[in-house]
Amino acid sequence: MAAKVRTVERAGLSLMEKLYLPEIIKGMGLTLGHFLRNFHDTSNIIVRDYPDQKVDIPQRWRGRHRLTTREDGTVKCVACFMCATNCPAKCIFIEATEREDGVTEKMPERFDIDLIECVYCGFCVEACPVDAIRMDTGIFSVVTDNREDMLISKEELMRTPGAFKDHAKEEE
Ligand code: SF4
Ligand code: SF4
Repeated sequence: MAAKVRTVERAGLSLMEKLYLPEIIKGMGLTLGHFLRNFHDTSNIIVRDYPDQKVDIPQRWRGRHRLTTREDGTVKCVACFMCATNCPAKCIFIEATEREDGVTEKMPERFDIDLIECVYCGFCVEACPVDAIRMDTGIFSVVTDNREDMLISKEELMRTPGAFKDHAKEEE
């Protein structure tokens, strides 16, 4: 059975709209109306005074990464490369080394993430078999004036704490 198609004619512009100027005045009048109303009462303005007023980040929101640590402060990562293999942006750079203390076989000598290329998909977190990488730092603003600073190192990743209490508890 053929689908019913309803054709809607285009209304076109009215004479006033074609004249252009009345529409501009109407628009400016609307803007002025909002300005005057909000000038006396700011409660309707949905604007946050960022960065003075911080944004509430939901716990499941994916922020800048961190590497979790063991109780003795050493890195939890076992340098299995699962995160780097899974990363669609190929922005995780790992160099593995032998772990001398016998806790695991390997650990990362180098673990860098290039945040310029990262798309914050969270696949690295999903791929990790030992919960060594997380995106629960609550850091959403990563700004710098040079490209080099966007490459965050293992040390920096380990230094960054988790932002949410119950996540920190999970680590204990
Ligand atoms: S969040 Fe996605 S793009 Fe960024 S490092 Fe992890 S896997 Fe790669
Ligand atoms: S962070 Fe996890 S997935 Fe990535 S290399 Fe370390 S242990 Fe493997």
